[in-house]
Amino acid sequence: MSARILVVDDVLANVRLMEARLSAEYFTVIRATSGLEAIERVADSSPDIVLLDVMMPGIDGFETCRRIKADPRSMLLPVVMVTALSDVADRVRGLEAGADDFLTKPVDDVSLIARVKSLVRLKMMMDELRLRRETSEQLGVAESVPTMSEEQATGADVLVVDDSQASAPRVGQTLESDGHRIVYAASPEEAIKAVGEKPFALVLVSLLLQSGDPVRLCSELRNTEASRRVPILIMVEDGDRPRLLKCLELGIDDYLMRPVDRNELLARSRTQIRRKRYQDRLRDSYAKTASLALVDGLTGVYNRRYLDSHMSKLVGKDTQAGKPNSVIMLDIDHFKLVNDRFGHQAGDEVLQEVARRIRDRLRPSDTIARYGGEEFLVVMPEESTQAAMQVADRLRAIVADQPVKCSGGTEVPVTISLGVARQRPGDVAAQLIERADRALYEAKRTGRNKVVQAPDSEELKRAAG
Ligand code: GH3
Ligand code: MG
Ligand code: MG
Repeated sequence: MSARILVVDDVLANVRLMEARLSAEYFTVIRATSGLEAIERVADSSPDIVLLDVMMPGIDGFETCRRIKADPRSMLLPVVMVTALSDVADRVRGLEAGADDFLTKPVDDVSLIARVKSLVRLKMMMDELRLRRETSEQLGVAESVPTMSEEQATGADVLVVDDSQASAPRVGQTLESDGHRIVYAASPEEAIKAVGEKPFALVLVSLLLQSGDPVRLCSELRNTEASRRVPILIMVEDGDRPRLLKCLELGIDDYLMRPVDRNELLARSRTQIRRKRYQDRLRDSYAKTASLALVDGLTGVYNRRYLDSHMSKLVGKDTQAGKPNSVIMLDIDHFKLVNDRFGHQAGDEVLQEVARRIRDRLRPSDTIARYGGEEFLVVMPEESTQAAMQVADRLRAIVADQPVKCSGGTEVPVTISLGVARQRPGDVAAQLIERADRALYEAKRTGRNKVVQAPDSEELKRAAG
């Protein structure tokens, strides 16, 4: 994940300091020393995240944030305000100006990197969802979706997991002032049961929970189908940094320091609920699209028509921003024999199961499409070759590890061969696919049930020199 971070601070020394820390984690840093310069960089350098100082001469951080969020081209760009420790009022103002998060000065390394990583993940997913929607719209099969700021942030179902007699009702009552409907859980078991019973727009978890392990609960919520996509907001003591970091690693969405400030609680809850509703809506519009000619009827993954349109947009876009995509072309080995030996019906079921296994393994930002008869293409935005190779080998393994159980009980052993290629500057979609296809052919030729990487430009240069 080599994201581009725009660091905005009127004190150049602060920018340099931030740059040093972020570069150490392989982020690319873009600099700006005023609000207006920041707005220009947003327009011309396509950052993935903005770290924005509040106190600046000229237009301040709040106004800069408002302008970034008012522009439809940058409104989904995550903005993190960097503000002084004590300024609760500032933080709330920041969130109200549309900031996605804030960091308090002095910024410590661990929380800086944790917040940045979590926002980069969010940004990538939102970009992908938006791109899918645009593709569908272009193909004339989806209605347009409102912007995130138009989403309601009130009147949601919220689960509060807190066994403290003092804090739980206080938190609940504060949330009720936004019209939320609160369900209380006093233990991890109650919480897991509750998320199974109805959909929530937000879960609040107290790390002071005595009745069970709140960190484990966060992990479970992330891995439970019913709550996988529900934002988690934790409440944590200032001294409890190790567990907070653990939770951030597990993928919780945000946190509040105790004592919980009422306005901060409301502002952070609104941000999470708005985001959740927006993502749900994008997903719904995608689901609608799915029933409409863009999805392969047999396997339920995207079809060739969708892929062609999506790819040309994705590849074009990312070449400009310098963020290459990786693709995997894969093909079932000796599939003709499967049909011959087990029948065409079993063949169809094998295709369905292979598609399902692959789709289950991919992340929301990846796309899989049926490219041809028993050939599939996986597109991974902004992925390194090494990471793509790992993904490809995992896909190879989940297909090979267990035979496909067909109706009637027949067990059909299946393997796939895979070719991996990474986008080069100036590539059009067809060239990228062509290289993956050649690598796939090489995998077939040299034994099948394996992954072959198309040489990237560096290796080509070495080979030529
Ligand atoms: P290789 O390992 O070289 O890929 O060999 P293969 O047998 O898989 O490759 P080949 O391209 O010769 O055969 C592909 C077969 O896939 C032929 C075709 O009948 C079958 N096929 C394509 N689409 C479908 C489908 O939708 N359902 C079923 N059951 N079979 C399909
Ligand atoms: Mg084949
Ligand atoms: Mg084939």
